[in-house]
Amino acid sequence: NTGAGPAARTYAAIELDAVRDSVTALVDRAGPAATMAVVKADGYGHGMLPCARAALEAGATWLGTAFLEEALALRAAGITVPVLCWLSTPAENIDAAIEADIDLSASAPWALRRIAAAARRVGRRARVHLKADTGLGRAGATPADWPDLCDDAARLEAEGVLSAYGVWSHLAFADAPGHPTVQAQIGMFQEAIDIADKAGLTPVVRHLANSAATLVSPQAHFDLVRPGVSVYGLSPGPEVGPPARFGLRPAMTLVSHAALVKRVPAGTGVSYAHRYTTERAATLALVPLGYADGVPRSATNRGEVLLGGRRRRIAGTVCMDQFVLDVGDDDVSVGDEVVLFGPGDQGEPTADDWATAAGTINYEIVTRIGARVPRVYR
Ligand code: PLP
Repeated sequence: NTGAGPAARTYAAIELDAVRDSVTALVDRAGPAATMAVVKADGYGHGMLPCARAALEAGATWLGTAFLEEALALRAAGITVPVLCWLSTPAENIDAAIEADIDLSASAPWALRRIAAAARRVGRRARVHLKADTGLGRAGATPADWPDLCDDAARLEAEGVLSAYGVWSHLAFADAPGHPTVQAQIGMFQEAIDIADKAGLTPVVRHLANSAATLVSPQAHFDLVRPGVSVYGLSPGPEVGPPARFGLRPAMTLVSHAALVKRVPAGTGVSYAHRYTTERAATLALVPLGYADGVPRSATNRGEVLLGGRRRRIAGTVCMDQFVLDVGDDDVSVGDEVVLFGPGDQGEPTADDWATAAGTINYEIVTRIGARVPRVYR
């Protein structure tokens, strides 16, 4: 019995205690560095606000988002801890960010100027984290551009329009422990910090580590770590290790049910393009979840679920709203619970199993669970 009631027979159960336990483990591992829980993309599909609150209860002291709307939604919900938002787009309202005390990232002088102009309009000092590209090749100023960015920030800081509160960067291979680029990026980051110091900046927080580096690269912790996927109890990658090794507990269990059960003869083609055919007379069970809900179409004939105490493989093509299971001669009834993935301790597959079946990463499995699937907190 799920306790969710018949109206919510397809749902993603989110165990907030698992979020709290995982964050407690991360905070312990990170100390004395502080912990920023990354809650972008609706808390990696788990629901941003409940998970943000759970993470703060467990000792995280910062929150991180990609987009400004996400950061503003945290403020609108009454959350007052420091929030870093790192991906501002030209259309975004920087004035609103500064009014809401949201820390902003800048990778280039034009971004600094934009923030400074907004700060002057609003009449408040903006808090900025200068981002260095130490080797990821994504956001951040290159080593060639970094000194100018620091000099510009120092000038604007002296004018009183902004404070260069943070210096930060992001790793390319954190989930491959021992990869030589991790140490090289740490070295580059230290150089970037030294250049910022020489420019007269005194950043309060220097931060580099995502989940993987938080878990396995303590030399990357600096003043603050930024775990995301591990907040939700998932491992950042197979090479890092299983979640239980680090005290992480997967928080999401995706549950549905058999919506239709029917008997078919041997040789029945199942679902679009008959990518599956029954070998013998069999019972088919239809599960009302599809790729519109985040069940990857690439899991056709590959993904597994738990039904009636047994693992079953998806039979045929995953459709937009449904997929089919061949349960052989087993006794399955309409309404029987189907668990797609969860922590794995009840015999159900994990998000990692789904990632393997679909040729992707667990991050994509959980963040793509669609808006049609209600999140049920427990
Ligand atoms: N920091 C930045 C800049 C990110 O973009 C992300 C997520 O992609 C994270 C931290 C958290 O990463 P992870 O989920 O691997 O811990």
